[in-house]
Amino acid sequence: MSHSTALHAQPRRRALRPARGAQLDLMEELRLALRRGQLRLAYQPIHRMRGADSSSFEALLRWRHPVLGDVAPEHFIDLAEQDGLILELGDWAFRAAAAECRRLRSVSGRSVHVAINVSALQLSSRPGMQIWLRHLQDIDLPADALSVEITERVMVRHPEAVAGQLRLLADAGVRIALDDFGVGYSNLALLGQLPVHALKFDRSLTQALVDSERHRTIASSIVDMAHRLRMQVVAEGVEQTAQAAITHELGFDFAQGYWYGRPLSAAQAEQWLRAA
Ligand code: C2E
Ligand code: MG
Ligand code: MG
Repeated sequence: MSHSTALHAQPRRRALRPARGAQLDLMEELRLALRRGQLRLAYQPIHRMRGADSSSFEALLRWRHPVLGDVAPEHFIDLAEQDGLILELGDWAFRAAAAECRRLRSVSGRSVHVAINVSALQLSSRPGMQIWLRHLQDIDLPADALSVEITERVMVRHPEAVAGQLRLLADAGVRIALDDFGVGYSNLALLGQLPVHALKFDRSLTQALVDSERHRTIASSIVDMAHRLRMQVVAEGVEQTAQAAITHELGFDFAQGYWYGRPLSAAQAEQWLRAA
């Protein structure tokens, strides 16, 4: 377990909060960054709680602007959704993550799995997911090497449009995970309607487990519900030994967080696989 190999991820990021008038410029900068190949993906390990380690990572966007420094996704994803640039951005991220997954599989000889965050806007846009599925065939990557993570917030907003595209992905073998589960809308009816394979238990809930018996009861009930629905549960934001122990005890299937590993560059992810 390496705590020292973090990509330029969290620590040195500036808290960039663009003023209203600056928003257009930020999108213009992002458009340029995309065109100039200045975006990267970081790969955060997802730890399997029981059995053999599964060599899974979540791909997370990283943008280092030459003047602004590192710009956190929380400061540009929503704007990119409003702007529509998220479609181009999402397409780039999907292709980059798929290519990296393919590469990591061949250099490590292991069944590397990569989870990709996808905006609901992407899922509700035309021509949709057939192009992505065809791309996976073109690069010879099995669809079950990938997961798509979507937030329930956006799923709630466009349920019908998203449902068809999610089914297409799921039928091809792509796994679907509901991100940030348990905060926001928590629309449980969606779980009955959509092909969801995993719930990602939100970081704020994971971090409340140590001090709150009530939160432990809630977590245990969610794990139980998920397992009855044949879904897996991932604890997000595990930062401390006590949180790792409790999530293991409560039956979580996977855990992710700084305690297990920070987001890594592609080269570091390769090293990680060699060391694991
Ligand atoms: P997310 O999908 O829930 O990703 C997890 C976030 O938690 C990441 O932040 C990760 O770096 C951070 N994290 C992981 N472990 C810990 C921990 O132990 N403690 C704390 N405090 N944080 C931890 P990041 O990379 O800043 O991404 C934020 C959000 O931006 C993501 O949340 C996701 O919703 C969105 N995002 C990132 N990359 C993409 C992308 O390629 N496409 C889209 N549509 N959204 C993305
Ligand atoms: Mg995610
Ligand atoms: Mg999350």
